[in-house]
Amino acid sequence: MKAAALHDYGQPMTVEEIDIDDPKPTEVKVKIAASGVCHSDYVFVAGKPFFEGPRPIVLGHEGAGVVEKVGSGVTRVEVGDHVVLSWIYACGNCYYCTVGRSNLCDVGRGPVIGEGYLADGTTRLHKGIIPYYHFLGISTMAEYTVCDEKSVVKVDKDVPLDKAALVGCAVMTGVGAVINTAKPIPGESVAIFGAGGVGISCVQGAVLSGAYPIIAVDNKANKLDIARHFGATHTIDASKVDAVEEIQKITGGGANYTFEAVGHPQLMRNCWDATAKGGTAVVIGGAEMGDEVSIPALDFPFTEKAIRGTGYGGARMNVDIPKLLNLYKAGKLNLDDMVSATYPLDGVNDAFSDLRAGKNLRGVLMM
Ligand SMILES: [Zn+2]
Ligand SMILES: [Zn+2]
Repeated sequence: MKAAALHDYGQPMTVEEIDIDDPKPTEVKVKIAASGVCHSDYVFVAGKPFFEGPRPIVLGHEGAGVVEKVGSGVTRVEVGDHVVLSWIYACGNCYYCTVGRSNLCDVGRGPVIGEGYLADGTTRLHKGIIPYYHFLGISTMAEYTVCDEKSVVKVDKDVPLDKAALVGCAVMTGVGAVINTAKPIPGESVAIFGAGGVGISCVQGAVLSGAYPIIAVDNKANKLDIARHFGATHTIDASKVDAVEEIQKITGGGANYTFEAVGHPQLMRNCWDATAKGGTAVVIGGAEMGDEVSIPALDFPFTEKAIRGTGYGGARMNVDIPKLLNLYKAGKLNLDDMVSATYPLDGVNDAFSDLRAGKNLRGVLMM
């Protein structure tokens, strides 16, 4: 099959023919229809990986497709089912899966899958005798993938697969950060730093929550126009004004919830400063390895503010992925306008340059 592989960090991807093995008993083979192009793939191409693992690796962690083959022990899906791939494998047995926080699954977030293997510590990808590795257990930038059945969620066939793919990462991460992690109540104020795919998904989560005002911050005017289109009630161009002061002005002292959807320590600090007393700053963005954030320690007793992380939108994937797609079908979640450009698999490097240039809300590779 054709796959987009990364042979070393900091290099362009190469689209090449590689071999893919049949699924083992608990695994499925999926014919990928669409794969979103995410900043978390790009950091590896850009040479600033979140973690170091074996290479070559087939990137891509946001995809949807059709089940082509199932292992002998698979019970959750059948051949022909439409599925969204989830970059968190939720084992179902660990502490976190048991208490309903499967986005923190010990296996899904563990070293085996994090470092390029499937859950049994082996790979199904190779070129002759040279092994190729899996990205977060799903490697969606390819014509096919083999992954554990716990990495897929069956979805309704009437949702277009390029839209469904987005719910596998960006949309889940952003909407979930608001509705699962922060949980604002109607009328509480929200400010979002960064109006890319995840930030716009936060805006949509805030609209679903009935938050007001919904303030979007970015340093590009075109992104702020997009934020308004998706429901931001106020926008701040951080290239022109002090965003923290503006948020304080609009909200009368600070937002109840702030979200950092970029991955920059200074913006995380800005989020903290823009949060109201008793409010919560929620950090979504992935910074660079080794980055740290510093906040004034006296703020803790004086303001009762909190800062917390959120990963994969706090999703329980088997519940939340179908839920978001139901909201899409009901016209309450706009996925259609999230896809701003599509590319063939061979165009993967163009998709990454457009991502780096900030051209896309979401670029999607169509297989
Ligand atoms: Zn992603
Ligand atoms: Zn688990």
